Amino acid sequence: MSEAHIERVFWAFRERIVDLKRDTRFRFILVFKNHGAAAGATLEHSHSQLIALPIVPDFVREELDGARRHFEAKERCVYCDIIRQEVESDRRIVQENADIVALSPYAPRFPFETWLLPRQHGARFEEAPRSVYESLARMLKSVLQRMNRALENPAYNLVIHSAPFSESHGDFYHWHVEVMPKLARMAGFEAGTGFYINPTSPEEATQVLRAVRL
Ligand SMILES: [Zn+2]
Ligand SMILES: [Zn+2]
Repeated sequence: MSEAHIERVFWAFRERIVDLKRDTRFRFILVFKNHGAAAGATLEHSHSQLIALPIVPDFVREELDGARRHFEAKERCVYCDIIRQEVESDRRIVQENADIVALSPYAPRFPFETWLLPRQHGARFEEAPRSVYESLARMLKSVLQRMNRALENPAYNLVIHSAPFSESHGDFYHWHVEVMPKLARMAGFEAGTGFYINPTSPEEATQVLRAVRL
């Protein structure tokens, strides 16, 4: 897809979310994409999925609680802190543009896990300013091209992390996109603990993705 096309897909996500939010049964909406059979895709053609839920999943709750604890201790958003520190150290930054920073998180669960974070603080994807979707589309295209060249067209999951709309998370939560190539299989240890063994350091993943010539 062209950058303009990807941007239109983000706008479609936004419009669907804004519409579904009016339904009072729902408390959380997950937008995600499974690319490739290994990532759970069940259709041949490129597609994303959106599921509205009547509850906030525990998994989401855990991330929100972590962000809240950081905010209570530091009076700053943890994601804004991550962006500031990572840009300064420049060890795990895959690419930056005016609105979006793509980085390998400090403790990734999966090899080449990459997060796309908006520089401007905001708890919800659907409330981002118009220009951010354009920048996000450009960044996503570039990050996926890097992964395709470096990792030979991997299957991947893409998930948009955005605050539940039933509650206020404005100060401490910061929406973002997580891209997780499917390079390793979940096994017994992961299933039994919720911990992940990742053989690729985020610094190494960053170097590999950065070295790709676009
Ligand atoms: Zn923030
Ligand atoms: Zn997240």
